[in-house]
Amino acid sequence: MSEHVRDPERIVLRGVRQHNLRIGELSLPRGGLTVVTGVSGSGKSSLAFDTIYAEGYRQYLDSLSAHVRRRLPKVSKPTVDWVSGLSPTVAIEQRTISRNPRSNVGTITEISDRLRLLFARTGRHDCRKCGTEVAPLDTAAHLAALAEAAAEGPVRLVATEPDGGETEVLRLEAAPDADTLDDAGLVVERELRAERRLTVLRDRTPVRHLAAGWVCPSCGTEVHATSSDWFTPNSPAGMCDDCQGLGYTYRVDAALLVGDARESVRSGALTFYGDRRRSKKTWWPQRDLPDLLTEAGASLDTPWEDLPAEVGDRILGDLTEHIERLFKDADSLERKSFYQGFMAKRQCGSCGGTRHAAEALAVRLAGRNIAEVNGLSISRLRDWVGEVRAELAGNFLAELSAELLDQVDARVEFLLEVGLHYLSLDRSAPTLSAGEGQRLRLARQLGSGLVGVVYVLDEPSIGLHARDNGRLIGMLRRLAEAGNTVLVVEHDRETMEAADHLVDMGPGAGTRGGLVVAAGPTAEVIADRTSATSAYLRNERTVVSPRPERRRPDDRRLELTGARLNNLRGVDLTIPIGVLTCVTGVSGSGKSSLITRTLQPAVDTAVRWRRTPVGPFDRLRGAEHIRRVTTVTQDSIGGSSRSTPATYLGVFDEIRKLFARTDEAVRRRYSTAMFSFNTEAGGRCDRCAGKGVVRIEMLFLADASVRCPSCDGLRYSARVLEITHRGRTIAETLALEVGEAIELYADVPAIASPLRTLSQVGLGYLRLGQDTGTLSGGEAQRLKLSRELLRRDEGGTLYLIDEPTTGLHFSDVQVLLDVLHDLVDRGNTVVVIEHSVEFAAASDWIVDLGPGGGEDGGRLIAAGPPELLATHPDSAVAPYLARQLA
Ligand code: ADP
Ligand code: ADP
Ligand code: ZN
Ligand code: ZN
Repeated sequence: MSEHVRDPERIVLRGVRQHNLRIGELSLPRGGLTVVTGVSGSGKSSLAFDTIYAEGYRQYLDSLSAHVRRRLPKVSKPTVDWVSGLSPTVAIEQRTISRNPRSNVGTITEISDRLRLLFARTGRHDCRKCGTEVAPLDTAAHLAALAEAAAEGPVRLVATEPDGGETEVLRLEAAPDADTLDDAGLVVERELRAERRLTVLRDRTPVRHLAAGWVCPSCGTEVHATSSDWFTPNSPAGMCDDCQGLGYTYRVDAALLVGDARESVRSGALTFYGDRRRSKKTWWPQRDLPDLLTEAGASLDTPWEDLPAEVGDRILGDLTEHIERLFKDADSLERKSFYQGFMAKRQCGSCGGTRHAAEALAVRLAGRNIAEVNGLSISRLRDWVGEVRAELAGNFLAELSAELLDQVDARVEFLLEVGLHYLSLDRSAPTLSAGEGQRLRLARQLGSGLVGVVYVLDEPSIGLHARDNGRLIGMLRRLAEAGNTVLVVEHDRETMEAADHLVDMGPGAGTRGGLVVAAGPTAEVIADRTSATSAYLRNERTVVSPRPERRRPDDRRLELTGARLNNLRGVDLTIPIGVLTCVTGVSGSGKSSLITRTLQPAVDTAVRWRRTPVGPFDRLRGAEHIRRVTTVTQDSIGGSSRSTPATYLGVFDEIRKLFARTDEAVRRRYSTAMFSFNTEAGGRCDRCAGKGVVRIEMLFLADASVRCPSCDGLRYSARVLEITHRGRTIAETLALEVGEAIELYADVPAIASPLRTLSQVGLGYLRLGQDTGTLSGGEAQRLKLSRELLRRDEGGTLYLIDEPTTGLHFSDVQVLLDVLHDLVDRGNTVVVIEHSVEFAAASDWIVDLGPGGGEDGGRLIAAGPPELLATHPDSAVAPYLARQLA
C-alpha cells in the first residue's frame, strides 16, 4: 500500500533500468541543488536526462490536449517502474545548441523579442513628409500642447474612430483654469491608452495631432503602424528590400571581368565574351563597344593593357550594368548561376549587412537603431537600457515600457553574472561554444521567473574559468532558491561542494556501473567511505599528480606573431615542440580565436600545402618541426547510424573475417561482406538496411526512430544470425562491451590491441556496436584520441585539443593525461585549451591569455612552466595554480 503514497517533498523513482541503470529505489529532495556525479559511463545522463527529464516531459505532454501534443517533439518512455513527485522538467543541455544561423544571442535569450516591442512602442522616427522627429509623446506634453492651443481661443478635441468617423471627446473654452486642465489631462490620457488618435480643432481646422506614438505632430502623417514585425529581419515587413534580408548581395566584380590583360577584347581579355577570334558572332551585346574603341584610337585587337584607363573603365562599367540586368531578368537557376560567376558576394549597401529594412533602421531609441543595439556588447547594452530609461522618464510610455525594460535588464544581469559580457545580441548561434550556449539558455530560464520546475543541466561548468565558476554556482543556487529543483550532472568540485545533495553513480562504467553508490545531503556523502568521489572531496586522493619529471623543452619552437583575429591584439604565441602545452584564460579571452581559428589553419597550410600561410597574423615560424596537424574535437563522429566503435577502429573487419572462416560460413559460402551491416549485398536486415532502427514519418511531427520490427534491432537477417563464433552470433558480438571483447579476443592482436587503446582512454565500457551518434562530446573526443594512439608513425604531429576534460570525473582526468603524455612521449606536440586547473598544473608549459573576455582580453599575459605561471602577478590562473601545486 505504501507503494503509492506520494511524498510532496521528494521525487521518488523505483525500478530504473534505463540503459545500464539498475536502481531499486532512489529518492531525491524537491527543491535545492542536487549534483549527480560519477565516472564517465556510470549512468549519470541515463538517470538525469533519459529517465528524470524524459519522464517529466512525458508527463507534461500527457497533460496537454492532443492537438497541442501533436506539435511537440516526442520522447520515448524511459524504462522505469514508478516515478512520483515530478513537476514540469526543463533540460538545459549542451548538445542541443542551435545550428540555425538566424538564431543568435538575442533570440536565444529572448531579449530580441523585448527590444522589438520596445522599438515599436517607443522608438523615435523622422516624419517622411515634413522631417519632424516623431517621438511618442507623454500626456504632460500633450496637455501642454492642448493648453497652448486653448489659450488662443476655444478648441475641441476629437478622436478618430476605426471607421474614419470622428467623436468629440472634449471642449475647452479660451484660457481654461487649472482644474479644467487637470480634468482635460485625464481625458487625454484615457484616450491615448485606448490607442485613439486625437486632433485639436479650432472651428473646423486641425491645430495639432496627439497620439500615443506614430503620428507626426506637425502634419498629422501616420509614420507607420506600430508593428513589432518591423524590427526583425526575419519577417517580410522588417527585411531589407535590396538583399531580401540576407545581409549581402551579389555584385559584378570588375576583377572577375578581365582575364588576361595581354589579350585584346576580341582574343578574350574579357571573360564574359571569351575568345571570339573563331566565333561567327559579329555584333557585341554592348553595341557601342567597337565605336568606343575606335574613338579612342584603338580597336578590338588592341591588348587590354594598352587601352587608355578611362576607356577600360567605361567598358567595364557598361558591362557591369549589362550583366546585372541579365542576372536580374534571368529566369532559370542555370542562367543565374552563370552570371553569378562574374559576381562576388558583397555586404549589402542598403542595410550595411544588418539585414534590416531601411525604415526600421531609421527608428532610434536613446540615439541608436535596432541594428546598432544588436551589435553592442552585453555590458554596453546595459548602459543603453539605462539611457532609454532616462529618455523615457516622465513620459507616459515609460510605464508602457517599464516591464519590457525590466525583462531586458534581468536577462542582461544574468548574462553579466555568468561572464558573457563580451557577447553581442547579433552573435549567431553556430559561432557560440557549447558552454556559452548553455549559459545563455540558463540566463533565459532565470529571467523567466518560473517556479516549481525541475531543471536538468549537463556540466554547466564547462568552458568556465575558475573565476567565473563561482558566479555560475551562485546562479544555480538562485534558481533553486526561487523554488525550483536544480539537478546538475557535474564533475566540478566547487559545484559539488556547493550542492545541497549529492548522488554518486558507479562504481564503474557501463555494466559495471548503473548503481547509486551514495546519495544524500552533501556532507553525508562526503563522509561516506564507499563513494569513490568522496575520497577526492575529502582530499584523500588527489586528482592529478603532476608528472614527477616535467619535460624541459629543447630550443625548437613554433612561433606565430601578430595574431589579431576577433579580439586578439597582436598576440605573439610561442609553442615549444615536443611537450604538452595548456592554453588558459577566462571564457572569451581569445583561446579558440588564437589556437583553433588562427594557429591551426596557418600550420595546416604550411605543412600540408607547403605554402606560406596568410591570415590575420604577421608570420609563422618553425612549421618545419611539424609533419602533420590534427584537431581532436568533441564533434560527433559520422552522421549515420552505421558508425560504431568497432567500425571506427577497424576491428570490425577483423571480427568479420573470423566469422567468415567458421566452418558453417565456409560451407554456406558466406563471405566477410555477409557479416557487414553496411553492405547492401550482405546479410544485413533489408527492412532497416542494417541500421537496427527504422524511421517513421509522422504527420505534423519530426520523424521518429523505432527499433526495426523485422530484425528487432539486431541489424542482421535471420540466416546470418545462425552462424556463431566463440559461442556468439555477430549481433551478440557487437553487443559486447569493449572490456569483454578484449578478454574474448585476447589471442587475436588485430582485435585486442586497438580495443585496448579504447580502455586506455577510459572507454572500456562502450559496446562494440554502439552507435557513435549516441556518444557524448567528451566520449567522441576520446574515441578519436584512441585512434591516434594506434598510429605507428614516429611523432611529429601537432595535436590541438579543445577542452578534453569535458565530461570527465576526477579519475578519468588522470587517464586522459596519461594518454596525452603518451602522445608527447612518442615525439608529438600537444596543445590543449583547458580550464581545469588540475590539468594545467600537470602540463609542461602554459600559455595564459587575458586578462578578461571580449574587449578586455586578447592579450598574452604570460607563458612558461606551471611553477613560473603560479607566481605571475597578472595571471588570473596563478592563484589557482599555486594552490594546486602547493
Ligand atoms: P554518464 O552520463 O555517466 O557518462 P551515460 O548515462 O551516458 O553515462 O551512459 C551509461 C551507459 O549507458 C554507458 O554504458 C553508455 O554506453 C550507455 N548508453 C548511453 N546512451 C545510450 C543509448 N542511447 N543507447 C544504448 N546505450 C547507451
Ligand atoms: P575563448 O576561446 O577564450 O573563450 P574566443 O576566441 O571564442 O574566446 O572569443 C574571443 C572573442 O572573440 C570574444 O569576444 C568573442 O565574442 C569573439 N568572437 C569569437 N568568435 C567570433 C565570431 N565568429 N565573430 C565575432 N566575434 C567572435
Ligand atoms: Zn540589405
Ligand atoms: Zn532491421
